[in-house]
Parts: sequence; C-alpha cells; structure tokens
Amino acid sequence: MDISVVIPLYNEEESLPELYAWIQRVMNANHFSYEVIFVNDGSTDRSWQVIEELAAQSDNVKGIKFRRNHGKSPALFCGFEKAQGDVVITMDADLQDSPDEIPELYRMITVDGYDLVSGYKKKRYDPLSKTIPTKLFNATARAVSGIKNLHDFNCGLKAYRKEVIKNIEVYGEMHRYIPYLAKNAGFCKIGEKVVQHQARKYGVTKFGLNRFVNGYLDLISLWFLSKFGIQPMHIFGLLGSLMFILGFIAVITVGALKLYAIYTGAPYILITDSPYFYLALTTMILGTQLFLAGFLGEMIARNAPERNKYQIEKEL
Ligand code: UDP
Ligand code: MG
Repeated sequence: MDISVVIPLYNEEESLPELYAWIQRVMNANHFSYEVIFVNDGSTDRSWQVIEELAAQSDNVKGIKFRRNHGKSPALFCGFEKAQGDVVITMDADLQDSPDEIPELYRMITVDGYDLVSGYKKKRYDPLSKTIPTKLFNATARAVSGIKNLHDFNCGLKAYRKEVIKNIEVYGEMHRYIPYLAKNAGFCKIGEKVVQHQARKYGVTKFGLNRFVNGYLDLISLWFLSKFGIQPMHIFGLLGSLMFILGFIAVITVGALKLYAIYTGAPYILITDSPYFYLALTTMILGTQLFLAGFLGEMIARNAPERNKYQIEKEL
C-alpha cells in the first residue's frame, strides 16, 4: 500500500464527508493505493456515525473509536500502530490542511529520500493571538531540538516514512515535537514543505492558550529525557558535586574565620553570624538531595523497559 492517511478528530462531524471526498479525489487522480484511518478521539457529536457511513461506502476507510477524549497525541499513536502504507501522512480533520499536498509530500519521501516532511503554514489563517506566540514557540523548539530548518513544528500536515512512525512513541501532548522525537530516534533527514492553509470552516479549535504553557514544559521534559533519560546521575551527580564543593569551601571559610576571630582576641564572634555558615548548610543539604534524586533516577532507569532499546537500521 502506498499511503496511509491518519486523521485524529474530536467533534468534527461537519468536515468529515467533505474531507474524505477530497482525499479520495486526490488519491484516485494519482492512482495511489491508500487507506484513511480516522481516529475518533471521544467525540460527543455524530462524528463516529459519519465515519461508519463512510466506511460502509468505501473499503479504504478505517476507524478507531476512543471511549473518551484522550488527546491528539494518543489518537496519532493508535493511528500509527494501525498504519500499513509505505508513506504515512497525518492531517487535521478540520479542513485547514489541504489533501492536494499529498502527492508532493509522497514524492519528497519516496524520491527525495526524506524521513519526515513537515508542512509549513507560511501564510496562516489563524487569529493573531495564536500566530505570534507560535513564532516564539517555533524559535525555541528549533534552538532546543537542533532542527534548524523547521519553521512549523506543530503543523498537523506531515508525511513520514513508515519506519519513522513505527519507531517513535508519541504520548501525552508530544505531537508538537514529533520531528524532535524522530531526530532522537536517529531519523535525521527532516524536510519542510510550504503548504496551503485555510481558516477553520466548521467547528472550533480544540486547544486553548494553555497549549503554549504545556508546549513549553513538554519541550523541557523532552530535552531532559533525550540528554539524561538513561543516565540521570550524570546531571544530578554533577549538580550535587558542585553543591558539595561550594559547601566545602564555605565550611573551610567558616572555620578559618572562627580561628581568625580567636587569634585576634574576639572569640565571642559566633559562626552563625557569618553568611558562609548558611551557605554551607544549604549547599550540603541541596547536594545530598541532588545525589538522592540521581540515585533514585538511576534505579528507575534501570527498570525502564526501553533501557536497552536501540535503533537498529540493518543487520547482515
Ligand atoms: N484533536 C483531537 N483530540 C483533541 C483535540 C484535537 O483529535 O483532544 C484533533 C482535532 O479534531 C483536529 C486536530 O486535532 O483534527 C487539530 O485540532 P485543532 O484544529 O483544534 O487545532 P488548531 O488547528 O487550532 O491548532
Ligand atoms: Mg485546526
């Protein structure tokens, strides 16, 4: 099979028939063999009935129905598990992404040899309250992930080589950072294509402004995990050691000051009057805590099922 289209959706009943008809048109015009996997993320409207109707009319339609709303990332995860096409394309269900981009995305993966191609909504039809923070978000994501050529990490329209989606695990709200996940898994040929973007035709956006807070925190987690996920002691041990060195210097200083006070005939000067005393106290406690966090982290990492999961590309 050439292409799997994975579409996560939450309350998008009005858009679905139009979207599927459009995809069908594009696929038939280009003679692709394909499947469209609709992942109904706990919609409370008629979305699932619509998917059932589409599936009754066409063998290319597949559906997954969540019992409740889990989020876009879990929906993508389950769609990816089921996908069989050589190239897997994700798109939003709200008709903001255009199926007309599919043939070129497919070509970039199969001919140009990209592992992942992300859409870039250069001209966006979204409110300013969304586009300006998005610029900031993308600049941060570029800097942290080291993927310098991407302008639009969170574009719903993306194409993947099948190996990519079978070797990464999207969870939580990590759909914003799939290129970063792919890069961490060793898929480095990541490209970008400028895509058409439409204003939302039906329904409303499903993400509020908290997307930026969560997105920022997720980026920090991802950075931390990719750097120290397997060896947490490397960071906590380093910070703990720095604390101990600081504490040690502070202790020596306190001692020296006291000796000096005795020597100069002022033994009534208390060591608790010295700022170094408090410095010694806090750094020693912090250092111990950091080491403890490191040891606990190591014990958790030792039991993690993926501690020995490597990306093996080929074997002879
Ligand atoms: N979506 C989903 N589960 C959710 C939220 C959103 O499957 O919990 C889907 C939604 O139906 C749409 C896509 O994710 O197909 C993108 O969502 P939306 O268009 O609301 O995001 P925006 O375009 O505003 O970034
Ligand atoms: Mg949208």
